[in-house]
Amino acid sequence: MSLIFIVDDSTLSLNALSHLLESEGHKAICLKESTDAADMISEARPDLLLLDVVMPKLGGLELLGELKARPGMDMMPVIMVTAKTDAEDVRAALDAGAFDYIRKPFEAIEVLARVRSALRTRHYMERLVYLSEHDGLTRLLNHSTILRELGRSLEALSTPGCGLTVVMCDIDYFKRINDGYGHQAGDAVLIALGKLLIDAQGATGIAGRYGGEEFCIILGGFDRAMALRWAETFRAVVEAREWEADGRRLRFTMSFGLAWTESGEGRNSGEILAEADRRLYLAKGAGRNRVVAADQDPVTAT
Ligand SMILES: [Mg+2]
Repeated sequence: MSLIFIVDDSTLSLNALSHLLESEGHKAICLKESTDAADMISEARPDLLLLDVVMPKLGGLELLGELKARPGMDMMPVIMVTAKTDAEDVRAALDAGAFDYIRKPFEAIEVLARVRSALRTRHYMERLVYLSEHDGLTRLLNHSTILRELGRSLEALSTPGCGLTVVMCDIDYFKRINDGYGHQAGDAVLIALGKLLIDAQGATGIAGRYGGEEFCIILGGFDRAMALRWAETFRAVVEAREWEADGRRLRFTMSFGLAWTESGEGRNSGEILAEADRRLYLAKGAGRNRVVAADQDPVTAT
């Protein structure tokens, strides 16, 4: 079932289209007024929009332009539905970002086929976006996406009192796992650790695979003490666990570097990452299997 919005000033069209869509098992929401449609649509984020071209006050092409300019709305396919049959009207709609075009009076079989086609394309686009943003092995965010998310999180820090911690961590002596147990065991460890990180990141956390056996976690709304507790708990869980990798049991530990900022303080994501990374190397240098949250005086040691 897909959620499909229909915006049309004609009650007749709205009824016909919504019955048609519901007969295919979709949920159809009808809007007769185009002027307040943009807010409702961007709030509900439907899978598809059927949009009349000729409407009083705000026409379909203007509404389309307004929607396409909003963040996150470029993935929603829009099918224009109109009695205007000029090739020039079709061109204008497709150039403005419409996915397809249906002429009134419409044939049920054609409407449903075009709706299926648009929903199929949306599904492929979502799949492509997912693959481009996630690491193929661990399903965590990939390197470029975690950097982008860090940039976004820092911008959002203008809300006072939130704070944010960046955690850089990696598996101690990971090469020994690959060399001693084989690369499939190394992969199995990374996959299991990815799942553990997703479970541990919490509602406001974002976890990514920075590269190799190195991970980056953004803990939104975490101050220094909360982040330290989080990292120390995670470190202890990893240390206590017996991991099953490629049919064999093994143990390993992790090192952590933390960088905290309360308001962003005009720092860019590169500076905060470098700070967390520097402390990760301090943790390595101090004997591994520990959390370091300051440049001097490593806080936690085991
Ligand atoms: Mg109309």
